[in-house]
Amino acid sequence: MVINMKTIADIAFAELEDLKKQKPTVWHNPAVQSLANQVLPISAAEIADASARLDRFKPFFKSAFSDMRSTDGIIESDIIAVEKFQTQMTLQQNGHLEQKLLLKKDAYLPISGSIKARGGIYEVIKQAESLALKAGLIDIDDDYAAFDSVPFKAFFSAYRIAVGSTGNLGLSIGIIGKALGFNVDVHMSADAKQWKKDKLRRIGVNVIEYQSDYSIAVAKGRQQAASDPFCHFVDDENSRDLFLGYAVAGKRTKAQLDAMGIVPTAQKPLYVYLPCGVGGGPGGVAYGLKMVYGDAVKPYFAEPVASPCMLLGMATGLHDKIAVQDIGLSNKTEADGLAVGRPSGLVGKLMMPLLEGVYTVDDQTLFDLLRMMYDSEGIFLEPSALAGALGPWRVAGKTEMPAAAYHLIWSTGGGMVPLEERKLMYNHMKD
Ligand SMILES: *Cc1c(COP(=O)(O)O)cnc(C)c1O
Repeated sequence: MVINMKTIADIAFAELEDLKKQKPTVWHNPAVQSLANQVLPISAAEIADASARLDRFKPFFKSAFSDMRSTDGIIESDIIAVEKFQTQMTLQQNGHLEQKLLLKKDAYLPISGSIKARGGIYEVIKQAESLALKAGLIDIDDDYAAFDSVPFKAFFSAYRIAVGSTGNLGLSIGIIGKALGFNVDVHMSADAKQWKKDKLRRIGVNVIEYQSDYSIAVAKGRQQAASDPFCHFVDDENSRDLFLGYAVAGKRTKAQLDAMGIVPTAQKPLYVYLPCGVGGGPGGVAYGLKMVYGDAVKPYFAEPVASPCMLLGMATGLHDKIAVQDIGLSNKTEADGLAVGRPSGLVGKLMMPLLEGVYTVDDQTLFDLLRMMYDSEGIFLEPSALAGALGPWRVAGKTEMPAAAYHLIWSTGGGMVPLEERKLMYNHMKD
């Protein structure tokens, strides 16, 4: 990609100096608009179509994954109130929230234990369905438990799925891809943890390692896949299907909150805090929530101070034409799921009228939050997944916010982290 250095040299916005100094900051999106004035480019019908496809695959999920039997084949996580964590944060931050603080437990989604179980699994089942329909192997009204059978696996073994990842997307694509019988190539950036590579290799995934960062891993994967007509490349930087898989969360979250008696309104909006890497996961979820709640939902993204790619792309309007390295940042963070230097252009543009803002968090704070969440609630989350946990306090200090507002922190990963790794993370830099 050709970078216009002049454009990058010319950029200016109020938070730029904070970003360069890796000083935690809050950027408010000046382009956010009321939903009443907008026609959104991805329709509710498209999201409903994705939701219906996930429903068709319920019998397959139940047959192939033991942890999906008790959930009736639905890949969804709970929303809980984290009152003990809230009490600790209220003391530490000296800020009282009127409502109970809510936590979305995507870290404990079935199959792959992170938010990537939404988009990644969706894109792979869509590809599988499309191939099976074309080959006349199945009809849309048939029982999709058939996807968990020897003839189907033999059929898919002629095909390949490839993806570039910092870890969790590779896990989700690798697990679902192998369960269907595909060959799977995962192009892993240098940030990816060893245990994730080991786990994928154990289940027969071809893991290709890079010493460089995520953007390079994606580019190499894309390049390799392009030369193989039997290969489908899951393009984390540009995929509409990934985005749709994430967006299905909108309606489901509303049903869960309805059941809890929580009905956001303009006077009592729902603030949602989503950890952001390349943007697809948080973008899709925020988009889905906007579709169901309109102006009553206020999404914020959270990024590490070393990797604020979405903030930089949106604040400059350059989107994927700028990377954090262009302003001298390293993209080195312990929040491996968020270690992305260049944002998705697709997501940045979609989010321009919808996102309230983005804030940044330093790594030490993520580890402090990790311990606080575990000590108070007994819930283990990986560092990336804690980026949203500071949101209510971080944003409240910087914006007018109705006291009665609801706050939902989206926890995005950690469910698959092995015990030994959990201990290392818990004890990280502890003094
Ligand atoms: C991938 C990931 C995210 C962010 O999703 P993107 O689509 O990369 O923005 C957040 N948290 C965790 C734990 C992740 O693995």
